[in-house]
Amino acid sequence: MNPLARLPSVDRLLSHPAVASLIDIHGRASMTGIVREILAATREAVKGGAQLPDEASLLEKVGAGATALATPKLRPVLNLTGTVLHTNLGRASLPDEAVEALVQAARNPCALEYDLASGARGDRDDIVNELLCELTGAEAATVVNNNAAAVFLLLNTLAAKKQVIVSRGELIEIGGAFRVPDIMSRAGAKLVEVGTTNRTHLTDFAENITPRTAMLMKVHASNYAIHGFTHVVPESELANLAHQHGLPFVIDLGSGTLTDLTKWNLPHEPTPADAIAAGADLVTFSGDKLLGGPQAGLLVGRKELIARIKKNPLKRALRVGKVTLAALEAVLRLYRNPDRLHLRLSSLRQLTRPEAEIHGVATRLLSALQTALVTLPVNVEIVSLKSQIGSGSLPVDRLPSAGFAIRPQSKIGGVLNRIEAALRAVDYPARPIIGRIEDGALLLDLRCLEPNDEAEFSASLAALRFTR
Ligand SMILES: *Cc1c(COP(=O)(O)O)cnc(C)c1O
Repeated sequence: MNPLARLPSVDRLLSHPAVASLIDIHGRASMTGIVREILAATREAVKGGAQLPDEASLLEKVGAGATALATPKLRPVLNLTGTVLHTNLGRASLPDEAVEALVQAARNPCALEYDLASGARGDRDDIVNELLCELTGAEAATVVNNNAAAVFLLLNTLAAKKQVIVSRGELIEIGGAFRVPDIMSRAGAKLVEVGTTNRTHLTDFAENITPRTAMLMKVHASNYAIHGFTHVVPESELANLAHQHGLPFVIDLGSGTLTDLTKWNLPHEPTPADAIAAGADLVTFSGDKLLGGPQAGLLVGRKELIARIKKNPLKRALRVGKVTLAALEAVLRLYRNPDRLHLRLSSLRQLTRPEAEIHGVATRLLSALQTALVTLPVNVEIVSLKSQIGSGSLPVDRLPSAGFAIRPQSKIGGVLNRIEAALRAVDYPARPIIGRIEDGALLLDLRCLEPNDEAEFSASLAALRFTR
């Protein structure tokens, strides 16, 4: 007799009590799809000579299929890469104040575009306008989806069919297809590049101003630095030159911290307030880089220019939602008290974490990691490491940190890649651990493993499975 005849039918499996409860959770259509797939794969396997599985093992597979279905795609992970603002891992982690605010906004109706004083229709930018003006010295502000959108909207509003003068040294590419020349042409503006890669002078700008010039622009080099025989024109000189010709001077600042980072011994990063004080008419920056908030693009500057930008119909296409605004407002409020910022703003707390404290985390967790890897031919030790800030901020500067180095005991390769893959593959709800392989070692930088995450680290180790 054909063994396949004894395989249960789709209906029989679906009406099993164990599957019926899964149907309650996941829906009949999804569970039917899973059961069909499992039966089809089983049929192929049996035709190929495999033994016919019993009903219990089929039900186990159905259960596993349902679990996979319920696992979110957007998994929380432990960022042990050593890059604090890791774009691929979602950049800044939000402080509790922001998380609470965004949950409230998500769950409830809120006064997003509603003026509670008059009962009239409001403007969603008003939620953060005052805070942004206070923190940057600007006259007005507006918010869009990210800084790329901010730059695009600004160029499209003020420079469509006109020329924008930028130094050749600033025609940068930010990871993930943000290239200044491409954004410029998509926004309908004509790029006029002046100077050379390493040196640009005020005369380079002055000689290229024509009746078709819309603005002078400066772009923060962000993710690269040039050293040696270099010259950039000071912002105040560019502002003066622009204003003599009745033109705006705009700066794409990239990562926009709103406070002086040097007071925490971090490298200097120009602030929007510096830019406005130097005479910039408009400044754009990201919400989720050094600022430590949600993904957003912030535009601050002269009232009249911001008003024009807000009237561009594309503003409607690029605007942010209530959840983003709630988180952004909460984060901006923290900047009102810079003295406590390094305790309250998650990203800054991580960036300013002393090496000795990170070393302490490593000491606490070493034996757990060694135990988890005990069957593998590797040595685990605590090492000093260098973290990076990330997101194109301060590309050259490194922060002294600590963590684990996992090294193979022999030259026979592959074991590090196996561990790295297993750390990534832990089952939900444990968090995948993301490290980095460098110079023959798998490194786990513990800077971003905060006290609340230490139990998560242990849970991830407990969920580790090594294939083969
Ligand atoms: C990061 C960056 C951008 C893009 O900002 P997003 O918020 O990622 O869209 C644009 N310009 C500069 C100079 C940057 O550093």
